[in-house]
Amino acid sequence: MSKKITIAIDGFSSTGKSTLAKQLAKQLGYIYVDTGAMYRAVALYAMQNDFIKPDFFDKVGLVNGLSSIQLEFKFNSDLGFAEMYLNGQNVETAIRTIEVSGFVSKVAEVSEVRAKLVEQQKEMGKNKGIVMDGRDIGTVVFPDAELKIFMTASAATRAQRRFDELQQKGDDVSYEEVLKNVEERDYIDTHREDSPLIIASDAIEIDNSYLTREEQFDVVLNLVNEVINAV
Ligand code: C5P
Repeated sequence: MSKKITIAIDGFSSTGKSTLAKQLAKQLGYIYVDTGAMYRAVALYAMQNDFIKPDFFDKVGLVNGLSSIQLEFKFNSDLGFAEMYLNGQNVETAIRTIEVSGFVSKVAEVSEVRAKLVEQQKEMGKNKGIVMDGRDIGTVVFPDAELKIFMTASAATRAQRRFDELQQKGDDVSYEEVLKNVEERDYIDTHREDSPLIIASDAIEIDNSYLTREEQFDVVLNLVNEVINAV
């Protein structure tokens, strides 16, 4: 059997990181972890407990509440991926709304939140054989990952993709609202003090504005095979 490696996939919002990561994990028989889902679940907790509202954020309240947040991924064999559970409740659908997207980057700026989630993420990857996607995976969570991919695409392309997804789910949002959210999250994610979204010096950048999912998958799978054969 070939040696297991760690694959870190970082990049901007709605670049298709999770689609690619899921495909890779399935192909390789690896664990897939969507770290964005973990930050989204913490944002949902903050909303449910009135720690965050438009123009209001009780960071101290959230930090004090962190010890009562239990996050867990449970594999759903019908869907073929693991769903996010917050304190025993399946929140996979609830964390994907535009409301949660509107608050999540503010929650993800809080160092105490990041420390708690990063610790859990490192633990999940300690035996390798993992594909993890997020914003700081190649820089903070797994700086020694054997393969680091950094995904980009224009904001307009990404907003259109996210808008199509939300529409398919029946969410009543406008394209402009989604574009604004994508741009706001890009700004906060790249400018925050703790673990900003930056490309790791040893990451391979892929701009997928003009690549189909299949083309992108082939490109990355070739990279994975090269790395696995070299370790
Ligand atoms: O990947 P997704 O778009 O679901 O992530 C939601 C938000 O969570 C991001 O915009 C970012 O603010 C935050 N995040 C993060 N670090 C990660 C993953 C997500 O700060 N590793």
